[in-house]
Amino acid sequence: MLVAQAVRLVWAAARRELILTLALQVVSSLALAIEVLVARRLFSAFLQIGHGGSAGGVAFPLVAMTAALAFGSFTSTAINELQRILGELVTKHASGEVLDVAVAADLLAFETPSFHDRLQRAQMHGSTRPLQMVTGLVSVARGLLSAAGVGAALLFIQPLFLLLVVAAYVPVWFAATRASRVSYKRYVEMTEKDRRRLYLQGVLTRKEEAKEIRTFDLGGFFRSRWDDLYDWRIDQLRHLMRTRIKLGIAGSAIMSFLTAAAVAFLVWLVSSHRISIAGAGAAAAALMLLGGQLQSVAGGAAQLFDSSLFIGDFNSFVASMPRMVAHSHGGGGTPPERFRTLRAEEVYFTYPSNNAPSLRGATMEIHEGEVVALVGENGSGKTTLAKVLAGLYRPGGGKVLWDGTDTAGFDPHLWREKVAVLFQDYVRYLLSAKENIGAGRWQRFSDQAGIEEAATRAGVSELFSTMPAGYDSLLGPEFLGGVDISGGQWQRVALARAFFRDAPFIILDEPTASLDPRSEAELFSNIRTLFQGRTTLFISHRFSSVRSADRIYVLSGGRVVEGGSHEELMSLGGLYAELFTLQAEAYLGGGRPIVTRD
Ligand code: ADP
Repeated sequence: MLVAQAVRLVWAAARRELILTLALQVVSSLALAIEVLVARRLFSAFLQIGHGGSAGGVAFPLVAMTAALAFGSFTSTAINELQRILGELVTKHASGEVLDVAVAADLLAFETPSFHDRLQRAQMHGSTRPLQMVTGLVSVARGLLSAAGVGAALLFIQPLFLLLVVAAYVPVWFAATRASRVSYKRYVEMTEKDRRRLYLQGVLTRKEEAKEIRTFDLGGFFRSRWDDLYDWRIDQLRHLMRTRIKLGIAGSAIMSFLTAAAVAFLVWLVSSHRISIAGAGAAAAALMLLGGQLQSVAGGAAQLFDSSLFIGDFNSFVASMPRMVAHSHGGGGTPPERFRTLRAEEVYFTYPSNNAPSLRGATMEIHEGEVVALVGENGSGKTTLAKVLAGLYRPGGGKVLWDGTDTAGFDPHLWREKVAVLFQDYVRYLLSAKENIGAGRWQRFSDQAGIEEAATRAGVSELFSTMPAGYDSLLGPEFLGGVDISGGQWQRVALARAFFRDAPFIILDEPTASLDPRSEAELFSNIRTLFQGRTTLFISHRFSSVRSADRIYVLSGGRVVEGGSHEELMSLGGLYAELFTLQAEAYLGGGRPIVTRD
């Protein structure tokens, strides 16, 4: 069943190469069968020479044998080369499917460890197992076909002998499949820790972490953790190896015993004159050949079985795609071009890895063309609410209403089309400046004027126009010719990306965290002009920036506890007034000092 899945995968990925390989294999097995039969002729010719006959009788079988050998060797070289391409084609196909699932998966899937475990297995094994599977498959096909050829020849010589030789390899086969199952189980158990080890490996080698690793001198510390995790892995593998060796020994012992029995049987056949000397010679040669082929069948089968268990993993991961997409899909409804009011009503949301809800009945609304701010202390739920409004998470309870229509019925892709989000942890793409900005709406990627305009509005056009390669400059120093830019400049590039996305609804999550105070003040004082005609929701901790918003919502513990203009909230004297005053005092030096000195 699993093997059938494996074959289906190879078939889907590289039909032509598979057929060609198998065809060559059939030809190669025929050559082998001819070798055995010609061997018998050759032996009789030798025996005749021994009894005073002419040497001329050897000529034909010798030429035939040479031709068969040459042909057999050519086909196996061709098969080996073809196998490489076949492996690569299957790897590409399998990895592509894993990528498709990862891209289509709901954002929430990335919050669950089991998704990462499965993704890791599908990805890691998706890149190595297909090759193993192809090798296994080809070995089994080669072994079986060749064994069939040799077996057919043996059938002529002595059928019972054939039966004995084949029976000898059954235990080897059982041992191999059992070993595969044991390995698979162990590998699955190892996934979580393997992921941790790979994570640490990333931390120790990535640019993002490099400076902190050095200032905190964390290299040795993480390295020893990595060592521990690797030692653990090796221990597990040793344990596994012992089990596999025991199984292997058991299988081989029975095989050797039965092979010896086959040889004894052959001796008996010769001594009781049931078989000619030439026949016995050919049978002995066939025993060697068949043994080799059956060994290759057993080895190939083990490889195939090993990989097919992982292919099962891969298939179930790929098969989970509709479920993951269905989860994120609401109905197939299309949201209207723009909204007049977008309203979150009593929205609840809980992250899969968190027992407590992050939103507990949050209610707020935003009208077309408004600039609305979300404020609140860390962890109060601002980012989560923004993601729900952006159509990235579906509310666990409550509703998001688009002009009164429940967005649960919308296709989230179409909803997200209308939204541009500048995340707090925006992505720094190691691509050209043009691509970094154009990614905001890749369909308009060739719109150079639009890209330059977005850069101008975000305040980075001067930076790029002074670079020798202009907008084609590669950003980030990791690739050859790349230039690094400052944190603030990266943030402006991300802002330009949001500008370039001609979406009616813009969400800015702390868009000025890396900007200097002057730039920040400029951005907020121009926010209406910059996003003219669009609706803007922004999150900020700087109350001086927030005060100019049309409306401000204050979050606390996953609920919206206050809402109104700056003046209204100040006169309310609630949480907003408290936080605002605290920050103003700190700026004016009237607040309590953070560090006291004698
Ligand atoms: P804010 O933006 O106001 O700082 P968030 O919306 O990021 O707050 O977080 C709200 C709550 O949700 C916090 O208690 C936080 O711990 C939790 N939370 C945020 N992101 C995740 C996540 N990916 N998985 C689990 N819990 C999360």
